[in-house]
Amino acid sequence: MTGGNQYIQANTNGTLHSASQPTLSPLNRGFLYGDAVYEVWRSYDKGIFAWEEHWARLHSSARSIHLEIPWTADYIRDQVCRTAAEFRKHSLYRDDIYIRLQIYRGEGAIGLDTALSSEPGFVILIKPVPGISPEVRNHGNRLIIAQSIRRNPVQSLDPAWKTGNYLNNIMGLREARDRKADDVLFLNMAGELTEASTSNVAFIQGDRWITPSLGSGILAGITRATIIATVAKSAGLTVKERSVSPNEINHFDEAMLLSTTKDVQPVGRIDDFVYRVDAAAKLWRLKAVFEDHARGASAKRPELKV
Ligand code: PLP
Repeated sequence: MTGGNQYIQANTNGTLHSASQPTLSPLNRGFLYGDAVYEVWRSYDKGIFAWEEHWARLHSSARSIHLEIPWTADYIRDQVCRTAAEFRKHSLYRDDIYIRLQIYRGEGAIGLDTALSSEPGFVILIKPVPGISPEVRNHGNRLIIAQSIRRNPVQSLDPAWKTGNYLNNIMGLREARDRKADDVLFLNMAGELTEASTSNVAFIQGDRWITPSLGSGILAGITRATIIATVAKSAGLTVKERSVSPNEINHFDEAMLLSTTKDVQPVGRIDDFVYRVDAAAKLWRLKAVFEDHARGASAKRPELKV
């Protein structure tokens, strides 16, 4: 099963159902206002990777929007495992899965005031992890630097908050599609490079792995943090977190997208500048070391099997 016909398993507040069946009220504040936070995990060898890191970021996002999460991590993990088991039963799928947890503030009378909201609720969605397409593997993603829109300033809707409001990202991706590209790179209000629509970005120059610093106004990606903490060094690269100017894109040898679902994916071009993605590109070694690390970490956590 692929594309639009793919079975997606849902769990709304403990009730298991197909994601094609509606469950939420039209007064749900996640739907009305994007008043929600979310996280995405994936499994490696059927073990959830970086459970605690994503859970901590979920709490950090929730704190930022003054939303109190009423469930323990263990309760939600049990719900994720139930949902995964139901997904496997229904789809007969045996490989690694994508796990999305969204927590909405509640529902109630129409109005922005959070005092109008009932208690929070959750929705878990499970489907196969999307693979890398042969096109991206061979030629890399084609990116454009957005001209019509900038990344939300940190003083407004801080990109570090992983909320249900992705309109900034959606508008950037729309521009990319209009310009026949796969994804967008956003500048911040100071004109520095930030990130793509649902991924962080990094570059290789010689033996240096360079990525925009958190101060540029980005999501603190778990993939990015894992590479900074251990993976880059094991792959023979030195980490440099710093401000990156769009004028530098033609100084780098390689470019890549980083996210939970993509781990490390090659970028073949940004605007008119082309990067190497051939078998000798260093990003492949980084990707292999990352995957080994994730498999090793997941193997040590039998309680996170899904
Ligand atoms: N930046 C944005 C805007 C994202 O939405 C995501 C993931 O969804 C990332 C970066 C990558 O974060 P992570 O590596 O934690 O998946």
